[in-house]
Amino acid sequence: MNKITVLILSIFTLSSCKTSEVIVSVKNGLVIENARIISPENQTISSASYIVIDEDDIVFIGIHKPNLKGTFKTVDAKGKYIIPGLIDSHVHVTGTDALSDKEELENPELVKLFRAQLPKSYLYFGYTTLIDLGTAKPKRLSEFNNAKIKPDLYYAGGGAVIGNGYGLSNWEDEIPNFVYQENEAYPFPDNYIKENHTPEAVAKRIAEFGAIVLKTYYEPGFDPTQPRFPTPSQTLMSNLKREAHKNNLVLAVHGNSLEAHRFLGNVKVDIVAHGLWNWGDYRLDSDSGIPEEIKKVLDIEIKNNVGYMPTLQVINGLRELTYSNYLNDSELEHVLPNELITYYKANSDTMYANVFGDAPKNIIANNFSRISKQGKLSMKYMHDNDGKLLFGTDTPSSPTYGNPPGYNGYLEMLEMESAGIPLSQILASATIENAKAFKLENLYGKVEQGKKANLLILNKNPLQDITAYNDISQVIIRGKIMNRDTLSARKIEE
Ligand SMILES: [Zn+2]
Repeated sequence: MNKITVLILSIFTLSSCKTSEVIVSVKNGLVIENARIISPENQTISSASYIVIDEDDIVFIGIHKPNLKGTFKTVDAKGKYIIPGLIDSHVHVTGTDALSDKEELENPELVKLFRAQLPKSYLYFGYTTLIDLGTAKPKRLSEFNNAKIKPDLYYAGGGAVIGNGYGLSNWEDEIPNFVYQENEAYPFPDNYIKENHTPEAVAKRIAEFGAIVLKTYYEPGFDPTQPRFPTPSQTLMSNLKREAHKNNLVLAVHGNSLEAHRFLGNVKVDIVAHGLWNWGDYRLDSDSGIPEEIKKVLDIEIKNNVGYMPTLQVINGLRELTYSNYLNDSELEHVLPNELITYYKANSDTMYANVFGDAPKNIIANNFSRISKQGKLSMKYMHDNDGKLLFGTDTPSSPTYGNPPGYNGYLEMLEMESAGIPLSQILASATIENAKAFKLENLYGKVEQGKKANLLILNKNPLQDITAYNDISQVIIRGKIMNRDTLSARKIEE
């Protein structure tokens, strides 16, 4: 080979390695180099690639660098891992965690600080898409959406509670979307019109509000010594499902008991928004494992392809009320304003009493540990038998400091892993599975051309180490890249 041939060959080789023929024009671009992309669908890790983002969207992915035209920034992801942004499909973003309406009025400054930090706290732990499953303060959804830096938010709007049922104990509250059930005998309130509370009217109104989910409830109550709340009939639930689908809404239903899961599995709702941790007459006493009757009900949900949200942190978050030392966890400083942590510390006894009265803490702690284990066993059974596990935390599920925004998702993941759910399943549940279940797979769920540029750059491989989700280098939301520490609530010393 003469010198000229070598030269020509090397120029050819160099150019074919470094830049491909593909021309990509961007207006406001971001290029990620050396991107090792993890697929939540098949757990493959790509070789070092180029991801080109323009504005909100991923516009190119390839092994070879495209010929870029326009204005763009470059970031090197060498040694790191790229995954799609996480989706928590069960949150409530319109309250101030653990503060009652009365406390909100009394502490406007705390509310302001909390609400300013809230969107960043979710992003800090990698949650770039949230689904709010029901609120009594729908106006605050737009307030959340008006924040400059925030996850993408979808919602159910005001929940379709069952008339006189769970979530509607107080007719003084504004409950525009309650559903009237013919066979329930209660005086129809004067300020409502019956025709507006049929499944047809309610589903239509919820869709017009911009929701993607119709959320309803199957909850006979938590205290067996009290009279039952009315629950929806099969006919009513079927009608709600039909009307939800007619309006392109996903039907998600609250339920966590054996009775609720049996009913909801048989009616084939789209999603049950909680795990099966209340085993009815059964209880986990020793190493006896999961009772046959529980398996039977879970089998129905598996057979009918019902989405299942374990929401393990509901029970754990309540249990934390017995353990005020929880408030010394330094991770909280990243997701809560310091003033709110101080407030919780000063009021932890009152918060406990508000939920558990004068019940001894050790008994509550033991009970909730058992219920938590029951929830984990049900989840594991769903996973082992090809059930559809969806990642949702129900943050916050009750007036407790034990469901901190963003961090609660990480805690949920740790719990899933400790219960034996493989890391590949945890990643899939929090990305592609949630995207599919909520009909958002055109936008989210994997790193692919055409999807929204909501991505995480991780320092570790989340298929090998769960703590990768607490070792995020950068968060990309709609093409905007942020170092993780800029999202923390912890005040940086000047
Ligand atoms: Zn909830």
